[in-house]
Amino acid sequence: MPPTLLVIGEVADGHLTKLSAEIATLAAGLAGSSGGTALGLIVDAAPDGAAAELAAYLPRVVSVASAAAADEVWAPHAAAEARRLLDEGVTHVLAGVTNDGRDVAGLLCGALGWGVLANAAGATWEGERLVVEAVVLAGKAITRSTVDAPSAIVTVTPGAADAVGSGAPGRVESREPAGSPVVPAARVLERVAEAGAEASLEEANVVVVGGRGVGGPEGFELVDELAGLLGGVTGASRAAVDAGWIPYARQIGQTGKVVRPALYLSLGVSGAMQHRAGMQGSQNVIAINRDPDAPVAEIADLFVVGDLFAVGPALSAEIRARRGG
Ligand SMILES: Cc1cc2nc3c(=O)[nH]c(=O)nc-3n(C[C@H](O)[C@H](O)[C@H](O)COP(=O)(O)OP(=O)(O)OC[C@H]3O[C@@H](n4cnc5c(N)ncnc54)[C@H](O)[C@@H]3O)c2cc1C
Repeated sequence: MPPTLLVIGEVADGHLTKLSAEIATLAAGLAGSSGGTALGLIVDAAPDGAAAELAAYLPRVVSVASAAAADEVWAPHAAAEARRLLDEGVTHVLAGVTNDGRDVAGLLCGALGWGVLANAAGATWEGERLVVEAVVLAGKAITRSTVDAPSAIVTVTPGAADAVGSGAPGRVESREPAGSPVVPAARVLERVAEAGAEASLEEANVVVVGGRGVGGPEGFELVDELAGLLGGVTGASRAAVDAGWIPYARQIGQTGKVVRPALYLSLGVSGAMQHRAGMQGSQNVIAINRDPDAPVAEIADLFVVGDLFAVGPALSAEIRARRGG
C-alpha cells in the first residue's frame, strides 16, 4: 500500500513556521517518490492563515480551529487531531524537533505503539521502507536507520529540505475539534515570554553570534547592532551563556538551538564541535576571530583574522555607509 505522510504543522505569530514548511517539502517529496500522498494538519485557535500557507506545499491540509489548544497545553490536542486522521490511512507522521513537535511524537508513540525516529536530517525510501538519516555525535557521524514497520513517527531537524512550494495550492479542509485531547491537557494559566526569545533564531535568515571573545554582556551590544543592521537575530555560544552574558534562549549548539540561516556571522567564537552541531547547516559562514588557528576557520566561507572590537565596528560603519547613513 502506498504511504500516506502526515505533517504536524506548527504556528508562530499566526504563520506557519519555517521548519514546518521544510518538513512539508520533505513529505511531499517522499510522497511523490513512492506513489503515496502527503497531508498536513494545523491545530490552532486561529488556524486559517497557517493552514493556507501549509497548503502551498501539500495537496491537502486539515485545519482545526481549537480554542482549547490555545487555553491548554497544545500537544495533547494536536495529537488527538492527528490520531483522528490516522483512520484515513496515515502511515507516517512527521513533526519538528521543537518542544511541541517532540511532545506530539511522544504522545502518539504512547497512544499508538508506533516507533519514533528522532532528529531526522533527511529521509528516503528503500523499497517500501523509510530510511531516516540523523546527524549524531555533534556532527561527527551520520546514522541511517531503516523503519522495519509499516508505520512510524519521525521528528525532523531544520534543514532536512529547503522549503519549496508545490506550485499548485492544496485544498484546506476545516474541521471541528475532536473534543478530548489524547491525554488530559494541563490548562495554561499564564504565558511569559522568555527574555531574549522574542525573535526566533530557528526562523532567522541571518544569525549574528557572539562568543566568549566579546568579553562581557556589553560586548553583545556590537553583536546586536550588527544583527539589527543585517536584519538578523542575535545568537551566542555556550561559553557566553554560561557566563551569564545572554539568556540560554540564544544558545546555538548541541545543547542549544539548531539554526540554518542564509548567513551565520560569528564574533569571538572558537567553533567547538558542540557549537558547530547547531550551525553547520548554515549556507554561508563568516567568522571573525583574532586566532588564525581557531577551529571555526575550517568551516568558515570567509574567515577574518582580527580583533572583533576593530573589525565589528568597521563592518557596522561600512554597512551604514553603503545604506547612505
Ligand atoms: C556536553 C557539551 C555540550 C555543549 N553544548 C554546547 C552548545 O550547545 N553550544 C556551544 O556553543 N558550546 C557548547 N559546549 C561548549 C563548547 O565545547 C565550547 O566550550 C564553547 O562552544 C566555546 O565557546 P566560545 O567559542 O564562545 O569560547 P572559546 O572557545 O573560549 O573561544 C573564544 C574565541 O574568541 C576568540 N577571541 C577572543 N577575543 C577576541 C577578540 N578580541 N577578537 C576576535 N576574537 C577573539 C578567541 O581566539 C577564541 O577563538 C558544550 C560542551 C559540552 C561538553
